[in-house]
Amino acid sequence: MIETIRNTIKDKSPEEALDLIAETLPGQVVFSSSLGLEDQVITYFIFKNNLAIDVFTIDSGRLFPETIQLLETTCTHYKKSIKVVHPNSITTEKLVLEKGAFSFYDSVDGRKECCNIRKVEPLKRALQGNKIWVTGIRAEQSLNRQTMQSLEWDENNQIIKFHPLLQWTFEDVKNYVRSQNIPYNPLHDKGFVSIGCSPCTRAIKEGEDFRAGRWWWENNDKKECGLHS
Ligand code: SF4
Repeated sequence: MIETIRNTIKDKSPEEALDLIAETLPGQVVFSSSLGLEDQVITYFIFKNNLAIDVFTIDSGRLFPETIQLLETTCTHYKKSIKVVHPNSITTEKLVLEKGAFSFYDSVDGRKECCNIRKVEPLKRALQGNKIWVTGIRAEQSLNRQTMQSLEWDENNQIIKFHPLLQWTFEDVKNYVRSQNIPYNPLHDKGFVSIGCSPCTRAIKEGEDFRAGRWWWENNDKKECGLHS
């Protein structure tokens, strides 16, 4: 199936490609939005064109208030809904009870455990029953992402992933958001380029790597939370 889709969307713009994919597999395409700048562009494509693609976001329970506000603003702006997926309350309570609220600072394993509970497991649940998972990944975001294909098979989740903005630069994204007046997180104007959970994200300084503000205490050049490993 992946080859057929690849041929269908060959030489198409991200917006056209999304339209074609939604038409080919109606009700089986989902988009996971973290409400970051790239994701807001994709949400704009989906909502503006009324595409048959469900949009969901994972509320890890540790998001910035600005991110939650943007979720509300986006739904109101487009008069559409974004499904909010939450972590399993039993495993989250157990984690905090046994290891405290900041166990992710103790070790990489501790961080991965928290990401698994608060993000990876809810993601798996949200992807179930679908054939294509749309993401806002861009190649220049990290070393790990530079080798990705815009359409690829995700063995972990048994689903085809589509990254429509893979080849866009950060400037492309910012210019597009500005030109279309797309709502975005005000933290982007304060030096936050990649925005995740509040205790694990900081603003970056000029010249720093794009992912330097994520889990900055870890010495690791392939920082991922497990969603896109
Ligand atoms: Fe937990 Fe931080 Fe991962 Fe969020 S980013 S799930 S707070 S470790």
